[in-house]
Amino acid sequence: MKVMKFGGSSVRDAAHIRRMVEIVERDGNARAVICSAMKGVTNALIEAANRAEAGDRGYSEILDGIWSRHQTATEELIASPGDFIGALQDEFSELREICHGVFLIKECSPRSMDLIMSFGERLNNRIIAEYAGFAGLEAFYVDARELVLTDGTHGNAVVRFEESYRRIDGYFADRAGLGFVTGFIASSSEGITTTLGRNGSDYSASIFGAALAADDIEIWTDVDGVLEADPRVVPAAGVISELSIDEAMELSYFGAEVLHPYTMIPAIETAIPVWIKNTLNPEARGTRIAADARANPNLITGIASITDVSLVNVIGGGMVGARGTAMKIFAALARADVNAIMISQASSEHSVCVVIRSAEVRRAVSGLKAELEWEIRNRSIQDIEVVDGLEVMAIIGGNMRGRPGVAGRLFSSLGSAEVNILAIAQGSSEMNLSFCIREIDHARALSTIHHAFFTSDGGDR
Ligand code: ADP
Ligand code: ASP
Ligand code: MG
Repeated sequence: MKVMKFGGSSVRDAAHIRRMVEIVERDGNARAVICSAMKGVTNALIEAANRAEAGDRGYSEILDGIWSRHQTATEELIASPGDFIGALQDEFSELREICHGVFLIKECSPRSMDLIMSFGERLNNRIIAEYAGFAGLEAFYVDARELVLTDGTHGNAVVRFEESYRRIDGYFADRAGLGFVTGFIASSSEGITTTLGRNGSDYSASIFGAALAADDIEIWTDVDGVLEADPRVVPAAGVISELSIDEAMELSYFGAEVLHPYTMIPAIETAIPVWIKNTLNPEARGTRIAADARANPNLITGIASITDVSLVNVIGGGMVGARGTAMKIFAALARADVNAIMISQASSEHSVCVVIRSAEVRRAVSGLKAELEWEIRNRSIQDIEVVDGLEVMAIIGGNMRGRPGVAGRLFSSLGSAEVNILAIAQGSSEMNLSFCIREIDHARALSTIHHAFFTSDGGDR
């Protein structure tokens, strides 16, 4: 038995939905199918909410556009959609009223944003379940808010696994057939709508997979699997056929959008393999992620990157040998709710450099200035320098462990491509070597590294 998940690109319109239902039907082993909103709808909902909050009436046209996509899909999929489209319209009116409320009070809290975003998955899965029924499947619609329980953190809620598993299991035990489940959305114990973070439908799929003790979890998307690098930049990137859980986590954490970083959590506990497969090319084997993954023949497994980051450099001669400065720096960042993506300190101890998201720079700097006021006044810290327009790139792979020469090949290839490196860090697990470069060097760096490690003339394939 399987749990399948189809991302926004796989359910973007009637033609894709038809194709997706065909895949599910032909396979015949799914108990729950988790679907995202149509591609672009979540972004459009966010845009509508932001405009409404800014007092811009244009939000209403964005909603019209969203409605028309769902109406068109319904009409193309369902022969006489009369009553069904009425019910869909009622649900959509609720969204209009909520956005109108945001427009009137000119405020959209994270809680309201979660509610607004939830409509993308709700509308689409209603349509898909209805169509699957017409196509002859024993299908029912599942609003995951009734089953997936979280805390009250909006935008990125923390799942309460035990209770969620119990509810999912009980719900499916009582029903025959195939559930089409809203990905991404959940609710707090007070019944308030929450979401699992952008791209969170992958995570939903693995929660349902674990709860139902599936044999496999399949994430269907628009590429043949997890690739060695972002295919939009490196068209030559090959499919990684097997990934260990650690490697998959690192790749997704470092920005390989194809997977949400938490997707592997339930699968780790239950040892269910996670597959990445292509809706547009169902015959391709895809990527298998599992604890017992076959060893990869290459020196590195993949390359990924996090964009829109800045480097904050705390510089001061007075830090040399002084105890506790690093602690104060990280305490200040934690208090300011800033996440350090990468940290490096030269052994001269003359500076500590932290890479953070650019959106958090202002908060970080004011927090640091407050915390280090004394050190700044007595000049043991001379400067807090910020460099914007950067990205963190990482090469990832279990084979790097204990193998000399990886860093050498990496940095000499970047050197010959004249890519400047601003900071470097390697975790002691040796699974990941990350470095900070300018965002304008993104494509050049990615292609250069891919060539150096994955092609027969540059690499060890
Ligand atoms: P979905 O709509 O199925 O959730 P996403 O757009 O979230 O799909 O993720 C799939 C996309 O991720 C691919 O189309 C690809 O452009 C991008 N991507 C970035 N890095 C990688 C990678 N290393 N492997 C595969 N895809 C990647
Ligand atoms: N629709 C949500 C998003 O765009 C969740 C997902 O697609 O996984 O982030
Ligand atoms: Mg996705």
